[in-house]
Amino acid sequence: MRVLILGGTIDASQLAIQASAIPGIEVIVSLAGRTRQPAKINVETRIGGFGGTSGLVTYLQDNAIALLIDATHPYAAQISFKAVEAAKICGIPHLMLVRPEWQPTQEDRWIEVDDLKAATNLLPGLAKRVFLTIGRQELAVFADLEDIWFLMRAIDPPEANTPIPKGQLLLQRGPFSLADERKLLQQYQIEAIVSKNSGGEATYAKIIAARELNLPVVMVKRPVMPSGTRVTDVENALGWLNNLKNS
Ligand code: NAP
Repeated sequence: MRVLILGGTIDASQLAIQASAIPGIEVIVSLAGRTRQPAKINVETRIGGFGGTSGLVTYLQDNAIALLIDATHPYAAQISFKAVEAAKICGIPHLMLVRPEWQPTQEDRWIEVDDLKAATNLLPGLAKRVFLTIGRQELAVFADLEDIWFLMRAIDPPEANTPIPKGQLLLQRGPFSLADERKLLQQYQIEAIVSKNSGGEATYAKIIAARELNLPVVMVKRPVMPSGTRVTDVENALGWLNNLKNS
């Protein structure tokens, strides 16, 4: 039984490793190719877009994929909608593995916004030194905010010729420790953070550090995702897989 896992998250990698150890299950992982050197796992991997829904349908059919699991990042909405549609066209079972969102505590100073554009409207009245932890793809959205200094963190540098905001770029891959995040915020005299609500442990320390230092966090809400069968962790995704395999 061949399974395609749409990946790009730690959960996707862990699921792929564990699923490929199940007898009778063959796993292929698909990555968008956003990270130049993705974390290595010993599972067959293909990289790059499929060319829209029709390209994904062709891929699923050509490779005799029996099950499709979408374990992509919670902000990668386009591929998730295409996956639902493609699975429907091919008549194969489809599952979404989506990490639960972080929830603010009473001590957190979150300002939730609908999207990054809304964050740019809010920042000038909020802070002069901002930690942007949104990855590299959308840094340009903040490039016109000339009165704000940005500390930006991403795994890879932005594409050449992309306008990026004034400030400093840190190329680092998580997980990040609380001690290091606290130090970073203090060292760069950060006054506010812009973050996506990615969920999970690997990048949560910055949220705790902001809470400790009483800093506001501009939290960009997750995009709308398609409806369908979903689980929130690897264990339940494996349960779904095993059920289908044994049915
Ligand atoms: P997206 O907007 O959902 O997808 C854009 C296109 O990329 C898709 O239509 C598809 O191209 C291709 N694609 C996406 N995921 C794929 C996968 N697993 N395998 C093959 N092709 C894939 O996603 P995005 O542009 O990658 O990211 C949007 C936001 O998600 C980013 O700004 C970032 O915040 C967050 N994010 C994404 C990833 C990731 O690995 N994608 C990782 C971390 C964070 P075709 O239509 O040609 O098939």
